[in-house]
Amino acid sequence: MTRIISNLQAVHDAIAQAARMAHRQKENIELVAVSKGFSADAVREAHQAGQLAFGESYIQEAINKIELTRDLPLQWHFIGPVQSNKTRAVSAHFTWVHSLDRLKIAERLSKQRPSNLPPLNICIQVNVSGEDSKSGIAPEEVTELALAVARLPQLKLRGLMTIPAPAEEPETQRIPFFKLHQLMRQINKLGLSLDTLSMGMSHDLCAAILEGATIVRIGRAIFGERIYGENQ
Ligand SMILES: *Cc1c(COP(=O)(O)O)cnc(C)c1O
Repeated sequence: MTRIISNLQAVHDAIAQAARMAHRQKENIELVAVSKGFSADAVREAHQAGQLAFGESYIQEAINKIELTRDLPLQWHFIGPVQSNKTRAVSAHFTWVHSLDRLKIAERLSKQRPSNLPPLNICIQVNVSGEDSKSGIAPEEVTELALAVARLPQLKLRGLMTIPAPAEEPETQRIPFFKLHQLMRQINKLGLSLDTLSMGMSHDLCAAILEGATIVRIGRAIFGERIYGENQ
């Protein structure tokens, strides 16, 4: 068994264990394998172990990899900052965008989504830890953006995403994830039906699952340390 395949197995085991602790079904937690910084061959290897969903942060790197794996039935998730001049490429190549934080970008993605593709699944990225350096919209502004995005025809608003400030203690890690879940509940009270919490990375997967993550985005624990690729 190769390293990527055994790592993937270990991540699935960690998800199953956290799900048991949370009294949740592991089937309700989707694993997105974050392949940024790794080659198309690494993606192929993960696919051989059954992995179908992959996350990328940089559009040109992503498009190259998508082209090189065209023969595989993969699903691509864009998780990096979306710039206006990249919306056309993002809307053409991805099934999910996790990192939406502005209405202007949402409008472009909706307008540019090719009509032969289903609506683009969207998560709004929220800065729940309140750090200036992190991307994402402030919690107070999420409701207004969510209501506007939900009206765009070629987008399907699915939920919220966050990258919290780094924390060591599992109990501390849970706080921002709890806040994101609360925010989703509040938004749903207004009549939307968000079903996705995209939260949890290699170092805080368990805390995220305990607080209700439905998608975890895992890179290093599957592919190893990146030589580059930190976008936060
Ligand atoms: C890189 C990245 C990840 C994966 O992080 P790891 O620490 O490698 O698991 C998840 N989400 C986003 C938005 C990222 O940029």
